[in-house]
Amino acid sequence: MTQVEHTEQASVKDTPLVPIEKVVSLSKRRGFVYPNSEIYGGVAGIYDFGPLGVEMRNNIRRYWWWSMVQNHDNVVGIEGATITHPRVWEASGHVENFVDRLVDCKKCKRRFRTDHLEPENLEQHKCPVCGGELTTEPRVFNLLMETYLGVVEGDRMKTYLRGEACQNIYLDYDNVLKSSRVQIPFGIAQIGKAYRNEVTPGNFLFRQREFEQWDLQFFVHPGEMDKWYEYWKEFRFNWYTNLINHKDRLRFREHGSDELAHYARKAYDVEYRTVLGWQEWEGIHWRQDWDLSRHSEYSGQDLRYTDPLTKERYMPWIVETSGGVDRTFLNLLLDAYEEEPDPNGKEPRTVLHLHPWVAPVKVAILPLQKNKEELVSTARSIHKNLQRYMVSQYDDVANIGRRYRRQDEIGTPFCVTIDFQTLDDQTVTVRERDGMTQIRLPISELTMYLLDRVTWK
Ligand code: ATP
Repeated sequence: MTQVEHTEQASVKDTPLVPIEKVVSLSKRRGFVYPNSEIYGGVAGIYDFGPLGVEMRNNIRRYWWWSMVQNHDNVVGIEGATITHPRVWEASGHVENFVDRLVDCKKCKRRFRTDHLEPENLEQHKCPVCGGELTTEPRVFNLLMETYLGVVEGDRMKTYLRGEACQNIYLDYDNVLKSSRVQIPFGIAQIGKAYRNEVTPGNFLFRQREFEQWDLQFFVHPGEMDKWYEYWKEFRFNWYTNLINHKDRLRFREHGSDELAHYARKAYDVEYRTVLGWQEWEGIHWRQDWDLSRHSEYSGQDLRYTDPLTKERYMPWIVETSGGVDRTFLNLLLDAYEEEPDPNGKEPRTVLHLHPWVAPVKVAILPLQKNKEELVSTARSIHKNLQRYMVSQYDDVANIGRRYRRQDEIGTPFCVTIDFQTLDDQTVTVRERDGMTQIRLPISELTMYLLDRVTWK
């Protein structure tokens, strides 16, 4: 077993909860996230990621993959298709049960999911926003997105874009078992898109109609379920703890007996507190043998496992950890954003205190002046060398203070300044984003200095 180590970041002050609009605006202005199809008026709950957004997403995904798959001898990865046989969704229960129940306020016309309402609002049919009367009979909507395979009318097969990514793991379980020498206990991990016709999309990336999930399904002997459940629960909590500044905004919430699926003995959500309140970030689920049993029943394939030593034959039990790339992206931006007052009463400094592991740009290379050929050529060669290892940005436009600010706003953890002393003694200034402290380093030590700080461990 491997544990993700706790790492210490430069301490960031306790700052107030950030309004989502601040992050929406920065995301658009600096190229993290754009509304999808904006020139046509946009589509609710669907977003595109810009040049910085895609770098940050890739970092988040790669860190997840590194710690879950590469750093665990007993976990392998897959990448499944987003369209599957329609029977999959009958077996999984989604065709029948993947529904949201919605009530409307007769006065302010807002719509609410019944599972998001406080019990007293539900019982008294009272709108939590305006106090108006809510409709009594909830309308029921299935969240699966339908699509059709085939072109000839009459021969077309109705199926669904996957409503949750993890189903591919159950579908590929037997193939993985036969093709990759894994033995129970082992896990299959995947990152991939999922689609839901959410009836209340909103809050930026929090609830989208197309989004990306990361899942681990860990297959165990029933007698070892407790041990592995606890292992993954702690592991996933530490994983999130590592990435955030405000550790006190992370907690576990245990599901009450009324929320538990019939097969689950327990379930915990990792929750994070933002202006939206405490919200689920990831679920750690006790799935028992529900999924493999259902797929065995519906497909007619026996998915039981035979222990190679004892020859015991049994249906494996599953620990699931299921979270979202987009919700991680949003929570990390909300956790990192700060408008820091300037001690001299000038414009506040907008800074993203992103962990260097996930920051989209790792280093900015800044020659002090752009009209001095020697400064520029030295800076360009340092930049070229660093690009082999990390995302580096070269910038020689505007004064150095303005350039620092530009990088702070996108969370670049280090700025390297090339000045006249560099030409004399081959050293550069490295400025750190959060504390704005500066040190002088020989160019020959720069790559290792940065790699040590921007590479996960
Ligand atoms: P909710 O009750 O909020 O609808 P859920 O319990 O159905 O969520 P899961 O099916 O457990 O969510 O999905 C696992 C993870 O996928 C969630 O923890 C979240 O990070 C992410 N996720 C789920 N739905 C969405 C969505 N519509 N937009 C963005 N991320 C989502």
